[in-house]
Amino acid sequence: MTLIDQIVARVRDVVAKPGEVLLHMPLFAGNESKYVQQCIETGWVSSAGAFVTQFEQKLCAITGSRYAVATVNGTAALHMALMLAGVERDTEVLMPSLTFVATANAASYCGAIPHFCDVESKTLGVDSYRLDEHLSQIAKVRDGVCFNTNTSRRIAAIVPMHTFGHPVNIDALVEVAAKWNIPIVEDAAESLGSFYHNKHTGTFGKLNVLSFNGNKTITTGAGGAILTDDASLAARAKHLTTTAKEPHPFEYVHDAIGYNYRLPNLNAAMGVAQLEKLDDILRRKRRLALRYIEMMRDIPGVKVFTEPTDCRSNYWLNTLILDKADMAVRDQLLTALNAAGLQSRPIWRPMHQLAMFKECPAMSLHVTEGIAQRAVNVPSSPGLVGGDNA
Ligand SMILES: *Cc1c(COP(=O)(O)O)cnc(C)c1O
Repeated sequence: MTLIDQIVARVRDVVAKPGEVLLHMPLFAGNESKYVQQCIETGWVSSAGAFVTQFEQKLCAITGSRYAVATVNGTAALHMALMLAGVERDTEVLMPSLTFVATANAASYCGAIPHFCDVESKTLGVDSYRLDEHLSQIAKVRDGVCFNTNTSRRIAAIVPMHTFGHPVNIDALVEVAAKWNIPIVEDAAESLGSFYHNKHTGTFGKLNVLSFNGNKTITTGAGGAILTDDASLAARAKHLTTTAKEPHPFEYVHDAIGYNYRLPNLNAAMGVAQLEKLDDILRRKRRLALRYIEMMRDIPGVKVFTEPTDCRSNYWLNTLILDKADMAVRDQLLTALNAAGLQSRPIWRPMHQLAMFKECPAMSLHVTEGIAQRAVNVPSSPGLVGGDNA
């Protein structure tokens, strides 16, 4: 058997069922219909309602964040979080090139320029050590403000991202960010339920972001949230995401250019039901990941991307990484998996290779460029394994 045939057969063994298997399907095994029905019956479907508050409270309890502000999606949450962190026109935002496009888009919505960082192969998150070296060459802190001396632009934020749910080495990053006086905005869109040394991801930055898109670990259809421990930033986020309307019994008075970014009650209702089942979903995802690890163990040429030591990943998307020697067969592998009905995807095209971000400043991105040609996401739905009694 060729390497490709072996991998396809093992992925089929892991999913343990015939036919078409999608990359990631949500699992609705709780009160989703009941709560959504309640919204319809009471008429509270839109941008106010009890489920939004409940959803936010549950997010705080799960993550340990003091405040949560639910938004229409993760991209809007990122946009708002970056603005509140002080990102503005003609500043730069450090972020991995290896990320979903929303991270770079959100910086662009602020009129800022992404500045791309390389990743560590162990975590696929920002390499803090090399970032520090890079900043030593191109940055200066003047009066407490970090500038890129090549472009004269202020470096306004750094956005680490927890790839496929695996926590980045955030302690090291917090240190580098503090040294250069750059606020952190964590893109924890993929890492609900992932912990770095017992602390939930999305609680290390000044502001942080989650996503509840249909393909994420839990879903609200579309949705996101801003997390912060800062009361005034949380209040500001709530105000700006609800069109910056001043509270008044009947008048329409807005005190800033606001956004229509709040999560509707209808979506929050689904979210509350999903969060009630989060532990079950996470256990299923871990069980599935362990099966992939076990099944691929004796196949030379491929590895499963596993959680870093002392971290707990939600194993959002299982990822196979081909050895360098075998990377030429990646596209054949993708073709074979998809032809066999096992929906699989390459990792994102790195941001610095996309037309609109080609000219952005960047450090050397050789690890990113190497990994991007060798990583494949394979079916990861929590429903592929049994629940707690299975
Ligand atoms: C999903 C995702 C987002 C954005 O989330 P949406 O809710 O789809 O807008 C942002 N960043 C990363 C890394 C993501 O994976």
